[in-house]
Amino acid sequence: MKVTYLDNNATTRVAPEVMEEMLPFMDTLYGNPSSMHTFGGQVQKHLAQARERAAQALDCSPEEIIFTSGGTEGDNAAIFAAVNSQPDKRHLVTTRVEHPAVLNTCKYLEGRGYEVTYLPVDGYGRVNLDQLRESLRPDTALVSVMYANNETGNIYPVQAMAEMVKERGVLFHTDAVQVIGKLDLSMQKLPVDYLALSGHKIHAPKGVGAMFVRKKAPFRPFILGGHQENGRRAGTENTAGIVGLGRAMQLAAMDIAEENTRVAALRDRLEQGLTREVEQTRINGDRESRLPNTLNISFKYVEGEAILLMLDTLGVCASSGSACTSGNLEPSSVLRAMGVPFTHVHGSIRFSLSRYTTQEEVDLVLDHLPGIINKLRDMSPFGQGREPAASAPRY
Ligand SMILES: *Cc1c(COP(=O)(O)O)cnc(C)c1O
Repeated sequence: MKVTYLDNNATTRVAPEVMEEMLPFMDTLYGNPSSMHTFGGQVQKHLAQARERAAQALDCSPEEIIFTSGGTEGDNAAIFAAVNSQPDKRHLVTTRVEHPAVLNTCKYLEGRGYEVTYLPVDGYGRVNLDQLRESLRPDTALVSVMYANNETGNIYPVQAMAEMVKERGVLFHTDAVQVIGKLDLSMQKLPVDYLALSGHKIHAPKGVGAMFVRKKAPFRPFILGGHQENGRRAGTENTAGIVGLGRAMQLAAMDIAEENTRVAALRDRLEQGLTREVEQTRINGDRESRLPNTLNISFKYVEGEAILLMLDTLGVCASSGSACTSGNLEPSSVLRAMGVPFTHVHGSIRFSLSRYTTQEEVDLVLDHLPGIINKLRDMSPFGQGREPAASAPRY
């Protein structure tokens, strides 16, 4: 059966151009870039080119790029760099809707005596800028706010936030994993100290990523060992992955226009079709400030997992909550932080499109999903979206 892949915020297919660029590094170009011999040295040249490409995509200097194993490592490295370089500062600020890579690192630090302010979000998932301002303290080591949320697609006003935070002399990190290739980022204009990105969300392979570390920002290596990455990230380089990431970042920069026109139009077609054909839906997130490829929609009184199973029989891949928490039936903590009503939170589905998504794929979902929802509602104790009687058991 043909796979209809609408789960691009979880991971993406490797672009053919990226794979082509990588293959020699798993075959003939296997030298160690740190070696003295010419054979290794030629690989070093390709790493330098990948760094140039990454720097160009972010409008920064190549020395400000560190290649990592992915978004999680970049988030960890930024947070630990900020706290380890300012041992007297014991407070961090983040939000309740961050990726686990940030949230669980903050929780770890809480266990080590740090205080963390988790900024709440409103019903649309928005963070209040005044609350952010008021949360800053003389001992705040770092503010970490994601650029866009992987579950709702919400885009946060990182420009305004970083300007305000930097004015107070506090370090700022942003998890930009979901915005590469969707928003035009310039590190010359965006005053963040650290930024993390991941290869496998932008059509490069899994297990490679990069971080931006501003020249003036303090940095302490997170992984200790050899002198790779200018002494900032030890370990023999993932040469194939890095070369692939460099190409993927180049392609991503060229892809921004298409994401914001063709992909956004397909997402809107899906959203409008579903809200028209199905009663009692709810769009989760901030439709005024949202990634062009993401739709998070709740179907009242239906279990998201049941919807996913039925979509799966059609070859349609989507997601309920985040992939990192699926496997347990706890509702998404992001949607709970937004106060999505109990009747809706279990029936939420995330569709995330990419430059490879076609209208036929969207129309396949539009053809089948309304029927699936009706069927599931017929089977549900509250059928057809009827309100449960006051005495009915809640599920
Ligand atoms: C996927 C993702 C990460 C983690 O990146 P990995 O490369 O999988 O470690 C971090 N933050 C966000 C917002 C993500 O979507």
